[in-house]
Amino acid sequence: MYDTLIIGSGPAGMTAALYAARSNLKVGIIEQGAPGGQMNNTSEIENYPGYDNITGPELSMKMYEPLEKFKVENIYGIVQNVEDFGDYKRVSTEDEVYDAKTVIIATGAKYKLLNVKGEEEFTSRGVSYCAVCDGAFFRNQDLLVVGGGDSAVEEAIYLTQFAKTVTIVHRRDTLRAQKVLQDRAFANEKIKFIWNSVVEEIQGNDIKVSGALIKNVVTGELSQHDFGGVFIYVGMLPVTSMLTELGICNQEGWIVTDDHMRTSVAGVFAVGDVRQKDLRQITTAVGDGAIAGQGVYHYIENMK
Ligand code: FAD
Ligand code: NAP
Repeated sequence: MYDTLIIGSGPAGMTAALYAARSNLKVGIIEQGAPGGQMNNTSEIENYPGYDNITGPELSMKMYEPLEKFKVENIYGIVQNVEDFGDYKRVSTEDEVYDAKTVIIATGAKYKLLNVKGEEEFTSRGVSYCAVCDGAFFRNQDLLVVGGGDSAVEEAIYLTQFAKTVTIVHRRDTLRAQKVLQDRAFANEKIKFIWNSVVEEIQGNDIKVSGALIKNVVTGELSQHDFGGVFIYVGMLPVTSMLTELGICNQEGWIVTDDHMRTSVAGVFAVGDVRQKDLRQITTAVGDGAIAGQGVYHYIENMK
C-alpha cells in the first residue's frame, strides 16, 4: 500500500512527489513516457525563476534528480482507471493494479487537433505538433504555424532558426500570446502573419505536405499557399479519460479542485495543467504540486 500514488511525472507530479517523499511518505509515481511531460517538447524556457534560459529536457532532468535521492518509486505504466474505495484508492494500468491511501492526478494536457482535411493524412509527413522534435527537418523551407497563443508564437520564433520563412495564421486580428512573445515575433523578419483566417485544407503530394488552402473568415475569400510543413498549436485538452468513474471533472474534462488541490473525492488530489485554472505554466504546476504533496501528508495524519 502506497501512502500516495502520483499519476504523471511532469513538473506538477514531480514536485508533488518531492514534497510527499520529504515528509517520509511511501511514494510511487506512474508515468507512461519520459519524466518532464510537456517540458520535453519545449525549446527554451525563460520564465522559470532561477534560470535565464534552460531547455525543457534539461529542466526535466533537474526536477527528476532529487526524486531518486528521496527514494520515490518510478513505475512505468499507462493508467487506465482510478477507483475510490474510501480509505484506499485503486489505480490500474494495462497489466498491474496498485493500491494507495491517496492519489495525486498530474496527467496534464495534450495538443488539440485542428480537424481539417489533410491533417491526419499528412501527420508525420509535414504536419507536426512539436517544433522541438521536428523543426530541424524543415531547413530552408516555408512553414505555416496555426494558432495565436503562447505555443504558436513561441514555436514560430524557434522555427525561424531553420526555416526560410514562418507564416502564422490566426483566426482573429490580435494574438493571445504574452506581450513579450508578440513583440519578438513582430520584430522577426522571417515571420509573416495571415490574420482573420483559418486553414481549410492541408494539401500535399504522394510524399509530403506541399501547401494549405486558407480562408479569410471576414471576406470568405480562399487562397492557396505553398508550405513545406505545417505546425499546429491550437490549444490543449485535459488528459482525464481514465477518471470517468470518479466524476471529478467539469463538462470540458478539466478537474475541479479547491485551493488545497483536493477534488470532490476525499483522498484524491489534482495538480498542474489538468486542473481547471487560469494560468497553465511550469511555475503554477510546481506550486500546485507542492501544495498537494504537503496535503496528502496532512490527509494521512488525519486518517490515523
Ligand atoms: P504535463 O507536463 O502535461 O505532464 C503530464 C504527464 O502525465 C506526462 O508526462 C504524461 O505522459 C503523463 N500521463 C498522462 N496520462 C497518463 C496516464 N494515463 N498514465 C501515465 N502517465 C500519464 N510553460 C512555461 O512555464 N514556460 C514555457 O516556456 C512553456 N513552454 C511551452 C511550450 C509548449 C510547446 C507547450 C505545449 C507548453 C509549454 N509550457 C510552458 C506549458 C508547460 O509545459 C505546462 O504548463 C506544464 O508542463 C504542465 O505540467 P503538468 O505536470 O501539469 O503536466
Ligand atoms: P491556447 O492559449 O489555448 O491558444 C490556442 C490558440 O489557438 C488561440 O490563439 C486560439 O485562438 C487558437 N485556436 C483554437 N482553436 C482553433 C481552431 N480550431 N482553429 C484555429 N485556431 C484555433 O493554447 P497554447 O498556446 O497551446 O497554450 C496552452 C497553455 O500553455 C497556456 O496556458 C499557455 O500560457 C501555456 N504556454 C506557456 C508558454 C510560455 O510561458 N512561454 C509557452 C507555451 C504555452 P483564439 O485566440 O481566437 O482563442
